[in-house]
Amino acid sequence: MSFFKNLKEIYRKVSEVENTIYSGKQDYLEIYERNLQLEREIEERTRELNIANKRMLTLQHIWDMMNASRPLQSVLETIVNSIQGELGYLHCNIIKKCEEISDNEEKIYLTVLAQSNDVSIKRVNKLINGPIQTRKLNYSEKSIYANTAKSKQIEITTDIGGTLKSVLPEVADGIIKEVVDGSPSKAIINIPLFIRNNHYGWFNVFSSRKELTAGETDFLSIFAQQIEMTITIADLFEEVKAQAVTDGLTGLYNRRYFEEYLKKEVTRALRQKQSFSIIGLDLDHLKEINDKRGHAYGDLAIKTVANVLKKNARSIDTAARMGGEEFNVILPGIDSKGAMIAAERIRKALEDEKIDTIGHITASIGVATFLEHSDNIEDILELTDQAMYQSKRNGRNRVTLAKPISETSWQEIAINTFMDILNKHNIHIGEDVSENLKTKLQAPQNETQKDALYTVADMLTQTYNPLHHNGTIKSKVLLAVSLAKRFDLPKDEIDKLRIAILLYDIGNLLIPQELLQKTTPLTEEERNKIKEHPIIAAREILQPISAVQDIIPIIEHHHENWDGSGYPAKIAREEIPMTSQIILIVDAYYALIEPRTYRAELTPKQAIEIIKQDAGKKWNSALVQEFVTLIDIDG
Ligand code: GH3
Ligand code: MG
Repeated sequence: MSFFKNLKEIYRKVSEVENTIYSGKQDYLEIYERNLQLEREIEERTRELNIANKRMLTLQHIWDMMNASRPLQSVLETIVNSIQGELGYLHCNIIKKCEEISDNEEKIYLTVLAQSNDVSIKRVNKLINGPIQTRKLNYSEKSIYANTAKSKQIEITTDIGGTLKSVLPEVADGIIKEVVDGSPSKAIINIPLFIRNNHYGWFNVFSSRKELTAGETDFLSIFAQQIEMTITIADLFEEVKAQAVTDGLTGLYNRRYFEEYLKKEVTRALRQKQSFSIIGLDLDHLKEINDKRGHAYGDLAIKTVANVLKKNARSIDTAARMGGEEFNVILPGIDSKGAMIAAERIRKALEDEKIDTIGHITASIGVATFLEHSDNIEDILELTDQAMYQSKRNGRNRVTLAKPISETSWQEIAINTFMDILNKHNIHIGEDVSENLKTKLQAPQNETQKDALYTVADMLTQTYNPLHHNGTIKSKVLLAVSLAKRFDLPKDEIDKLRIAILLYDIGNLLIPQELLQKTTPLTEEERNKIKEHPIIAAREILQPISAVQDIIPIIEHHHENWDGSGYPAKIAREEIPMTSQIILIVDAYYALIEPRTYRAELTPKQAIEIIKQDAGKKWNSALVQEFVTLIDIDG
């Protein structure tokens, strides 16, 4: 064998080995590639599965919520929060399309109905100076909103700045740029929402990606459908609720039905000239039952009243729960005599019921009759209410018949008002004083009811003004009434004046002690507060008392001066009620002839001189002229 032959043989063998190695490497590379591909596929599948799983959970969550009855907004907020958090979207919101008429033109604007609570929205709110949720947003025909509403298709836009500017045109471009630049959002996905075939609004998703994949489109569309369904259900629920005529707890008619029915009854009664009656009933001490036994027992008490009403009403009577613990019954064709018998029967029946754990409950009842007490239905309802309150005042568990408005004397109104004030308000007087005053009002001894009123008013005044003389209130009333008669005020105005004189300083009972006791000089603001506080407090005390609503304006304006320099409204001349003008001058006169800590009392003559100086300024000159003739200067 030659050397070369050998060499050739070796070379061939090397080549062979090389070839084997090479093909093996090829095989190896192929397998490697295939494995990599497979791994990638597995990873992708797993990711998809995970996403699908999360979507399922989110949708499940929404379904659960739709079964629970929660206000729409709170349900929608949970929906947007769940998608924002769980699927990694940066922000989501639901925008509602609203319409309003302005300048005779229908105008569309947008509001944020719900939005996810995330860092991005907090940033935006800060930059635009206030929550976007409370704003009326602009609707532009050129925006993505208009596009998707028309096309009914999901759309994505990377022009976040332009979209924001379209809804917030009032925000400066610089701010919009700051919002966009500082946000990781790359695109907004906008999906129109339709409720029962009508365009309702949009679902917006802020995404960190610029593209929308097919899977994402499907998912977000399904999500939008869930939102649509939620809103539809809430809408239907509201509709059904608005149509309901019965009260859920008791099965009695509700207020809405009662008011409808009452209108018909009024028409019928007027046409046939036949009266009907209303029984108004309020459960006694329900708050105590709630506090002591719990709300469920309070509900049970309410249901018991309802059952008693059902059992004791004739088939043509209509019993309704007006709300809370308040019930009304309409008795067609029944006059006040019959209604009083029916009301008493109801009262007795309720008192006889024995409820588990609670024991016995009672109610206070008022009765008024249409065409008998008034031919105005609002007055009748008011009178029923007043009669019911009279039952409460007189000790509860009783029936009171309404009094026609004209028959209620000013003394009665005043006594009832004082009783309400003593019962309800935490005025700065002791329990025993309060009880003493109540007894005086209810059962006056050795004096007439009218004098008992004056005594009580004097005693109340003395609690905040120890220098106040007994008998002053009575003198003020007499003087004011004489003055009013000089100006021919009608009787009902004079009655209001009498009550106003009893009550105009009642606000002093609530004046903050720290203000009164301040030893350092008062600031302008504090002085004004002291000046106006009694008026504000009087309104606060009297506002809930329906019988004295006409009196409040008289009291409110009793510090207005003729030339407009008074307070609180700074009205002038004839704008000031005559009764208020009278109180101002009478009050001023008595302030002058009473002693003060800083000066002795003035004589009537000195007081008159001072009052005359302000004629045409504080008071009308004509008023001063008459006033002067009423004062006995030498007396
Ligand atoms: P009065 O004899 O003066 O009427 O005393 P009251 O406690 O019944 O009246 P008040 O007006 O002070 O309180 C009424 C309470 O009734 C307060 C309210 O929480 C309760 N209430 C109203 N509606 C319901 C209800 O549907 N269920 C229950 N349990 N309580 C109710
Ligand atoms: Mg009650």
